[in-house]
Amino acid sequence: MNYIGIDIGGTSIKGGIVTPEGKIIERFVLPIHHELTGEQIISQLGDMINETLAKMGTKPSDYLGIGVGCPGSINSETGCCDFSNNLNWHYLPIVKILKEKTGMDARIANDANAAMAGEAKFGVGKSYHNLVLVTLGTGVGGGLYLNDHLYVGNEGKGAELGHIIVQMDGLPCTCGLRGCLETYASVTALIRQTKEAMEAHPESKMWDYVEHDINKVDGKTAFETSKQGDETALAVVDRYENYLTVGLVNFCNLFRPDAIVLGGGLSNQRDYLIQGLEKKLQATHYGFTGTPAVKLLVSNLGNDAGILGAAALYLD
Ligand SMILES: [Zn+2]
Repeated sequence: MNYIGIDIGGTSIKGGIVTPEGKIIERFVLPIHHELTGEQIISQLGDMINETLAKMGTKPSDYLGIGVGCPGSINSETGCCDFSNNLNWHYLPIVKILKEKTGMDARIANDANAAMAGEAKFGVGKSYHNLVLVTLGTGVGGGLYLNDHLYVGNEGKGAELGHIIVQMDGLPCTCGLRGCLETYASVTALIRQTKEAMEAHPESKMWDYVEHDINKVDGKTAFETSKQGDETALAVVDRYENYLTVGLVNFCNLFRPDAIVLGGGLSNQRDYLIQGLEKKLQATHYGFTGTPAVKLLVSNLGNDAGILGAAALYLD
């Protein structure tokens, strides 16, 4: 039986019909009109799912259910989006509305947990029993897959991997604490670290890379320039990887995963990033003597990660 996967983003909702093998056989997109209430938007989504089913010549009983991945604080037990600052939703009963509209079963998880489920069921993590997903983007997020199950945690709110503290009294984080992994290992942090290094080193080739405009610095600047042997860029990458390694070592020692999956924007640096991190990780993590080393993998689900992850909530 197939599933419906729903990926709620900041500007649109992407949906798809997903086979048990992880193939998306039909897609639909609903733009989010922010002047509408959350109830109205989810109600529109229900209509769109019904239309898609009819178009495919299928009925609700042909599907196992609707899996939804949503950003924000999601209570998987009540099926509510308790809070989403980007969408301005408060205690929105998404599962209840979708069930009423479509007559199908529905489940919801926060987008990080859904992404973890997707990697474990359809992605690079498929053959492993214990996984940690770490996404490196504007922030640092992730999920846990332990003993062959998605770790859902209290109210299904998952783990906040980006907010483990790696530096006591460190830099302030958006969450209100100081020294969180996110403030040192997100792409936002890398951009800040790159700019600081460039300002201290006017001779760095990174200035040429951004055509002498510091506003053009992005997550690639230090990585790409370090490949030309630029010492300042190499130092930025080295320091960034050291911080990220502290986070990864903590995850290894807490959960002893078979593999860590890296996702998010920075995973474009795939081979280069993995190479550096693998060396640092193997040199520092504890107690793996005589057991297989933890593998570092890069997500390969691309733009479909959200839809596949949401559908994978039905495979756990
Ligand atoms: Zn934090």
